[in-house]
Amino acid sequence: MSQSSSVSIGLRGLILILVLLAVLATLCNSLWVAYGVQRDALVHSALQANQAYAAKAASGIEQFLTSAHSRLSYSSQRLGRHFDDPHLRQEEAQRLQAEDTAFNAVLIIDANGRALHMYPPQEPIVGSTLSSEEVVQALRERRPMVSRAYVSAAGNLIVFITQPIFSPSGKFLGIIGASVFLRQHGILHTLISSHYLPGAAYAFVTDEQRRLLYHVNHLKIGEVLGETATVDAALRGERGPMETVNYQGVPVLAGFALVPGVNWAVVAQQPREQALAPLAQLLRDMLLKIIPAGLVGLLAIWLATQLISRPLRQLADSAEQLSAPQASEQLQGIKAWYVEAAAIRRALLSGVQLLQQKLGHLRRQAQSDPLTGLANRRAMDEALQTLTQAQVDYAVLALDIDFFKRVNDTFGHDIGDETLKQVAAIIAHSSRDNDLACRAGGEEFTLILPGTDLRAASDIAERIRHSIATTQILPSGTLTISIGVACRSDDTPTAEAILKRADERLYHAKQTGRNRVVAG
Ligand code: GH3
Ligand code: MG
Ligand code: MG
Repeated sequence: MSQSSSVSIGLRGLILILVLLAVLATLCNSLWVAYGVQRDALVHSALQANQAYAAKAASGIEQFLTSAHSRLSYSSQRLGRHFDDPHLRQEEAQRLQAEDTAFNAVLIIDANGRALHMYPPQEPIVGSTLSSEEVVQALRERRPMVSRAYVSAAGNLIVFITQPIFSPSGKFLGIIGASVFLRQHGILHTLISSHYLPGAAYAFVTDEQRRLLYHVNHLKIGEVLGETATVDAALRGERGPMETVNYQGVPVLAGFALVPGVNWAVVAQQPREQALAPLAQLLRDMLLKIIPAGLVGLLAIWLATQLISRPLRQLADSAEQLSAPQASEQLQGIKAWYVEAAAIRRALLSGVQLLQQKLGHLRRQAQSDPLTGLANRRAMDEALQTLTQAQVDYAVLALDIDFFKRVNDTFGHDIGDETLKQVAAIIAHSSRDNDLACRAGGEEFTLILPGTDLRAASDIAERIRHSIATTQILPSGTLTISIGVACRSDDTPTAEAILKRADERLYHAKQTGRNRVVAG
């Protein structure tokens, strides 16, 4: 309806847009917060799992080393009593190796570093003097030891677990040692894989020099790592979780622990991205669960916008037709159920009343003669038209003041006006409610008398004539009026004809001496 307005969006559209924006913002915010919370939870749980894993693996390795030492210690005590017995040595080496699958080889070395026995035997080693730094150190220090990782005389990357052999009198006789081959599928692999490690998480073990003793990728075993935050922290004796990057720069979630006594670092880690993989699925699930409630919400919003905007839209429509006669009724019919709409309706209603009062006033002004307040010629024509349409009989009086020119000439124009007003008042006063007194122009008047026959009209005309003639209107002297009376007849069926006839009779009254009524 608002053709003149360049703005085409309605209140309902605005509310919808606003609410949808608010809902979208809330949704995005919720998803963002949920994403953050879930991400932190996943990171936290991955860190905890890896930390627990590293701690368990470290303690498993520690237990293994302790039990290895105790088994070696038992053998060393047996050997100490009969070190010269080659059969015993042979038997002890074989028994130890056979009993413990973790021991890839068992070696008995005398105090000078000569390999006396080895099981499984390897010719070039048995009988030779071993000069590797690790063997020399074990002979020198004469205490239970675990070597760092090194390449043995047989060419294997090993860790050498040793126990000194003393005679019952306390004389140092040599050492008994067990080699753990690192590149083979050995004890470290068994220990590490015996614990559950989630997803793509993996673990590795290094010695004090950061040399890899175990790694999922066997090819890496023996490599020396560069500075690695997790390993360095573990070697400082710390244990715990850590978010860091691996040697390839990939962000990882790690847990680390130290194997006490041997100072080995155990690290369990997994790529951060892989730990967060369930996140996308979680968000998808969340969105899917939100959709049905969201649709219901949208429907509710749509209905609410309808409810809110309807009264205003109806009020706006009514506001465009305030001048219409039924505007007030239309406004009353609008359900303005909230404060603002009710206030607008109240304002529009009082606007309608004002407007209609003003229109009525204008209408009355347009239809009345400003000097006398009687109806003007236009109003008279409308009244005659209405009477004709309604087929109501009526009489017409044509009235003209006699010698009015003289009044003006004698007393002036203002007194002339005043005279016209008084004559008009007498005519109006002499007529009934249903009659219509008009000023036809100048000093001429017309009185329409609905439902009145010629005789009654003549009586009324006579009364008016008499009243004017006997009323002191002029400052001095008297005033008279001549009146022609006519009503509907076969000769005069139309309004024009009746008026014409009344005028003719008025003329006749003038001709026959004035101050008289002519009705036939
Ligand atoms: P008759 O008896 O033949 O009707 O004579 P008359 O003088 O009344 O008639 P005439 O038509 O010759 O003059 C009418 C006068 O009415 C002329 C005019 O000056 C005067 N008149 C018309 N309208 C007004 C008005 O609004 N105010 C005043 N003061 N005089 C008016
Ligand atoms: Mg005249
Ligand atoms: Mg006159």
